[in-house]
This record gives sequence, C-alpha cells and structure tokens, in this order.
Amino acid sequence: MESPRTVVVGAGIVGLCGAYELARRGVEVVVLDRDTTFDNASCGNAGLFSIGHYPLTRPGASLRGLRWMFNRSSPLWIRPSLSPDLLRWLWTFHRHCNDAHLQRCLQTLGAMGWRTIQALEEILDTESIDCLYRRSGWLDLVLDHANLDLATREAKVLAPLGYRTDRISGAELRRMDGAYRDEVAGAVHYVDSAIIHPGRLVRGLAAASERLGVTIRRGVTVEGLATDRTGRCIGARLSSGEVVRGETVVLAAGIWSDALAASAGVRVKMQPARGYHLQLEGVAQLPTTGGVMHETFVAYNPMGTQLRLAGTLEIAPVGRPWMRRRLGALITGARRYLHGIDSGRATEEWAGYRPCTADGMPVIGFIRETPGLYVATGHAMMGLMLGPITGRMIAADICGESSTIDPEILASVRPDR
Ligand SMILES: Cc1cc2nc3c(=O)[nH]c(=O)nc-3n(C[C@H](O)[C@H](O)[C@H](O)COP(=O)(O)OP(=O)(O)OC[C@H]3O[C@@H](n4cnc5c(N)ncnc54)[C@H](O)[C@@H]3O)c2cc1C
Repeated sequence: MESPRTVVVGAGIVGLCGAYELARRGVEVVVLDRDTTFDNASCGNAGLFSIGHYPLTRPGASLRGLRWMFNRSSPLWIRPSLSPDLLRWLWTFHRHCNDAHLQRCLQTLGAMGWRTIQALEEILDTESIDCLYRRSGWLDLVLDHANLDLATREAKVLAPLGYRTDRISGAELRRMDGAYRDEVAGAVHYVDSAIIHPGRLVRGLAAASERLGVTIRRGVTVEGLATDRTGRCIGARLSSGEVVRGETVVLAAGIWSDALAASAGVRVKMQPARGYHLQLEGVAQLPTTGGVMHETFVAYNPMGTQLRLAGTLEIAPVGRPWMRRRLGALITGARRYLHGIDSGRATEEWAGYRPCTADGMPVIGFIRETPGLYVATGHAMMGLMLGPITGRMIAADICGESSTIDPEILASVRPDR
C-alpha cells in the first residue's frame, strides 16, 4: 500500500489522535511541535471526558458574559477591547446563543460523543495506556435548590440522544461519598461519561504513535504553511527555514491554528479562552469521581493522591500575564462544595488556552480551496473529549474511508477566506 507522508502540526490531543489513527492505517506521519514539556491545554485540562457536553453557545451565555465583563474574579471574563476581530467574534457568538442553534449543535456533538468514547476505549485497550481512566460519569454539583431544577432540565435535553442522567439529593450524595459538604443541595450525575488524567493520556498516545512509526519532532516552531504555485499545501515551514513536506498537512495547533491557517490564505475565526488549574496534594477527603461545581464553574478531578481544580474562562489575547486572583478563585469556588480543600497544598499551577469558535462548534475537515490541507481545531472546552473521534475522522478521510464521516460534522467545517 502506498503511504503518503502526512505532516501534523501540533502534538496536543487532536494532533496526536490524528497521527495515531493515520499510523494505524499505514500512513507515514511526522508530527511537529514547539513544546518540549507536555505543557499544552491537552495536558493541563480538567480531565472530564464528558460526552454529549453542551457547547459554549448556550442561551443566555453571551449576556452573562457581558454582565461579568468588569468583574475580574468571575468565572467568565472578557478583557474589554475594541479589537474588530474580538467584536466580530462576540457578535457572532451572541447570535448563536439560542435554543435552535443549541439543538443543532447537540445533535452533532451527541453523536460524536458516543463515537469518541468508543475510539478512546479502543486506544486505551490496544495500547494499555495507564491514565487513571474511569467510566464513573461526572457530577454537576449544585448548592442552590433552584439551580438543581435548572441543572436537571439541562440534563434532560440529552435524553433523546441516549444519554443517561440521574438527579441525586444532597443526602444521597453524602451517603455515597463523604467528600461533599452539607451545603451541596444535590447533583446531576452524567452517567455515561468518564474521567481521566489528561497528561498521562497525551504522553501515552505520543509513545503509542512512536511505536507505530510516527516521528515526533519536538522543539520545532512552525512559522507558516508552505503552498505551491497552484495553491496546494505541500508542507510546513519551520522557523529554521526548513520545509517539512507532506502530501497532506493536518493543522491541529490549537488556538495557534488561526494564524498558521492564515499563512495559506485560510481564515479560521477563533478567540483564545484561557483557563487555569491547581493540583492539590493532601486534600483531607478526595471525592471518588470528578465533576463541575454548578455555581462557580470550577471543575474537579481526583488524580491518584491529588485533586485537580480547573476552570475560569478568560477571553484575552494570548501571552498576557497570568491573573493570579483567578487561580485563587479556584479554591474559593471549590471550598463550599468539598471538604478539606484548605488542607490541600498546591503542587502545580498551570494556565492554557481553549481554542474557541464563535458558534461553539469545532472546525474539522478538508479545506477545498487549499488542497492538501486539513484543519482540526476549535474544540473549546471539549477538546479532550472530542480528540479521539476528531483524529479518527481526519485519518479516515485522508485514507479515503469517506463512509465513516457524518455529513453533519462536515457541515461544521466553515473556514472562510
Ligand atoms: C482549564 C481548562 C480545562 C479544560 N477541561 C476540559 C475537560 O475537562 N474536557 C475536555 O474535553 N476539554 C477540556 N478543556 C479543553 C481542551 O483542553 C482543549 O480543547 C484541547 O486540549 C485542545 O486540544 P488541541 O490539540 O486542539 O490543542 P493544544 O492542546 O493547545 O495543542 C496544540 C499544540 O500545537 C503546538 N503548536 C502551536 N503552534 C505551534 C507552532 N507554530 N509550531 C509548532 N507547534 C505549535 C502547541 O505547542 C501545542 O502543543 C479544558 C481546557 C482548559 C484550558
């Protein structure tokens, strides 16, 4: 079988899943990444494999964001700016925060959810990756009784897509797991989902890909995409001047995909949404599963002897100094839900960027105007979860297995020029 070389830009979850799936199909693959330390969003995220998850574009989300705009401690914060790109993104985002769009997204994301967990479990079984994977579901933890009704209604929307959810009272919750405080009114359990240690998954995927023959070049910065005179993408241009050539190029560089796509005349409109995590050692009582604290949007995930708290969504240009109060907000936001948060000692502080499109959907597919180029990005707060299916779809398409691609997912490919 002929094995055309594919160049994958980005060794995050999306790029590595693509590389792995391509290698399994006999394709020669080179992955390029400037990072040498496994420090990307794919490693630092909360580790909730929350299938069927809602996109960012929910009814009311844009107005809530505007209300919070001037509060630097709020879970969602937009740095005030008159940048035309930001204003255009915010306006498009606002237009998509409605029920009809949410329903369309959920149809696509719901179907992808089942396929992605199957793809992940196949990889973990085949490669024996030890990443603390547990199909324990996740909990939407709620303090306020009125919010518990709201959370229950939100969960029910997923029932027609086959997702199971259970409402649990505060008393039941505490009987099951002593980690939760008396103030917690209850929870909604998203039964079908899983939790995972994302950094271990990414390292395991990289090692498995290398065993299959993938070359991973770390510490190399891609400056732009290389095209020939006909406009075909023929590789990636490194800052050293070297062009790494390939028959196809998969652009999976997270938030940086935007600028790299532009170098080939393709525009993928995204905004970076920075989030933070704190890794705590010594929390007196670790919960047995992970979840999200409904009122404060702080995600939590027990990882061995540690607890990861992650969250906050800060829309601001890449590279601005950390806002340390937002790290502090993770502790404040978790304290009322979980026992023993204050006995924890932070062993790690981290920040990274979610690549967010204005309509809440990822951008996955072949760019017709630039033959040879695939884009796989824009997964926002769902990239860990959608990574395995994204990689599989891209690999299947490159290898001509078009029957595996859901037309609804292709319909979400909207790069414009
Ligand atoms: C706080 C937080 C919590 C989250 N929690 C969850 C969760 O629980 N579940 C979930 O599903 N998702 C979660 N997410 C979202 C998820 O982490 C992202 O959607 C996902 O990691 C994006 O993966 P990626 O491969 O597209 O990008 P990245 O992980 O950002 O990888 C991109 C890679 O490209 C490389 N790169 C970029 N530019 C260049 C260049 N010019 N040259 C060479 N290399 C380059 C980077 O070094 C990087 O390694 C969370 C995100 C954050 C920030």
